[in-house]
Parts: sequence; structure tokens; C-alpha cells
Amino acid sequence: MDCSKRGERWSLAGATALVTGGTKGIGHAIVEELAVLGATVHTCARNEVDLQNCLSKWEKMNLKVTGSACDVSSRCEREKLMERVQSIFKGKLSILVNNVGTGQSKPTTEYTAEDYSVTMATNFDSAFHLSQLAHPFLKASGRGNIVFISSLAGITGFPSFSIYAATKGAMNQVTKNLACEWAGDNIRANCVAPGSIKTPLAKWLLDNEELMARETARIPLARIGEPEEVASTVAFLCMPAASYITGQVVCVDGGRSINGAS
Ligand code: NAP
Repeated sequence: MDCSKRGERWSLAGATALVTGGTKGIGHAIVEELAVLGATVHTCARNEVDLQNCLSKWEKMNLKVTGSACDVSSRCEREKLMERVQSIFKGKLSILVNNVGTGQSKPTTEYTAEDYSVTMATNFDSAFHLSQLAHPFLKASGRGNIVFISSLAGITGFPSFSIYAATKGAMNQVTKNLACEWAGDNIRANCVAPGSIKTPLAKWLLDNEELMARETARIPLARIGEPEEVASTVAFLCMPAASYITGQVVCVDGGRSINGAS
């Protein structure tokens, strides 16, 4: 390989990205990571005030980030979001990160029809439909990448979270299908499955000393992860350096998923 081109393989300069749910947690870290590495990023969240605060912060950091208030569980809001993205990026999107996710821990027999439809719409319908909507723009970019943010819960069994786990298992499978179906359009599809990460969504775990001790005992690296540790994996998967990686589910979990000891 031409040595002068090596730096370009580890950069996102010139890339355009849509990251859903970028005002907190993992999505926030992904927006910053992609933008610091040279991408122009559009993000969304439901809370307009949080979004504006984040956009002001990123502007001060000289990062190229725009945003829309949008609830990705709504089909019509997803369509509006993608129209905005198409217009901002002039029809060329190189990265789609389907990050938004939610879930409730309940015994399966206690989930309501609403719990089911909200979790499915937020986690899986949004990721599937946004991928469909983004397809022509990813193809037009000539270097398309989709990254789904799944979960360890979509890989191993837990005695709760069954709806959440089903949405994540579905994402893991769709990653493989899109990788095969859209490879000819120069679109790669990969999935990142985090273990427990320090974000507002994981408050139920972080605030419970006993649960935290039990969870960290199962993790070879013996700690909960940071959002930035997920973001760096997402950025890598979108880089030319990862050009031969598609259809993979990468666990970012401190080794929890491979620990035969627990
Ligand atoms: P988080 O801390 O709750 O942050 C979620 C972000 O998404 C916020 O910016 C939130 O802003 C936005 N959001 C939520 N619902 C939305 C909706 N319907 N439409 C638009 N934006 C929405 O979550 P996180 O922990 O960073 O999780 C990110 C992803 O990682 C999820 O898919 C989650 O399942 C996965 N994950 C997390 C962990 C973990 O331990 N944290 C582990 C495994 C997998 P608004 O509230 O303003 O909308």
C-alpha cells in the first residue's frame, strides 16, 4: 500500500453521518468521536433543550454537527428526519448509526401491549425503517456504512428484558442480511453490542450497589464500560481501515460475553 494513503484509512474526513439519539450516553459519545475524526454529523433527540445545549457545546469545540428534534419511534417523524438529512448532505450519506434504544425490565407475563409496541417501535422499527430510507443516500455516497447499536442482551439470555432482547436479536440478524443484500451497493453493515455502559439508561444498575458488584464480578475487565469505548469501535467500523469488515456483531463488553467462569 502507498504509505501516503495510510492516514486516510484511519480518518473520517469528508464523511457525512446521521447518529440517532446523540444528546446523551453512547449516542453523544459517537457524535463527538465521528466529528473529531472529520465527519460532518447530524443527530436527533426528542428533547429540544438538550439538543440545543449539545449543539452549542459542539459549535464551541469547532465540530460540524447539526440536529433535529425528532421521535424516531414515529414513522412520519423518521421520514421528516431523512428528508432533512437528504437536504443537508445533498443526497449523500456515508454513515447511519441506529443508536436510539429503550427498554424496561419486567417479568415477561407483566409486559403490556403498550410496553411491547413502544419498545419495538423505538428500537427495531426505527432502525429498520431508517436503514430503508437511508439506502439511496448511502448508495450515492459510494462508501456507505450502517452501524446498529445492539446489546449483550441480544446475544445471551437474561432472566428479564425479553422485549428489549428480542429487538436487539432482530438487529443482530438484520445486520447480516443487509451486509449481504447491499454489499453490491458499496454499503457495509455492522453491529456493536455493548455490555453495561455508564449512561442514563443504565441508572437502574449504576445506582444499585449489590447489582453492580454482581455484574462487575462477571466481567473479566472487572468494570463497567465508558460511552467513549463504544464510540471508538463504531468509528473504526466506519473507516476505510475496516473496509473488509461487514455483517459482524462486535461485543464491547469487557469480555463479559466470553467469560466461561460465570
Ligand atoms: P440513553 O443514555 O438513554 O440515551 C439515549 C439517547 O437517545 C438520548 O439522547 C435520548 O434523548 C435519545 N432518544 C431516546 N429515545 C428516543 C426517541 N424515541 N427518538 C429520538 N431520540 C431518542 O441511552 P444509552 O445507554 O446511551 O443507549 C444507547 C444505545 O445503546 C441503545 O440502543 C441501548 O439499547 C444500547 N445499549 C446501552 C447499554 C448501556 O449499558 N447503557 C448497554 C447495551 C446496549 P431524548 O430522551 O431527548 O429523546
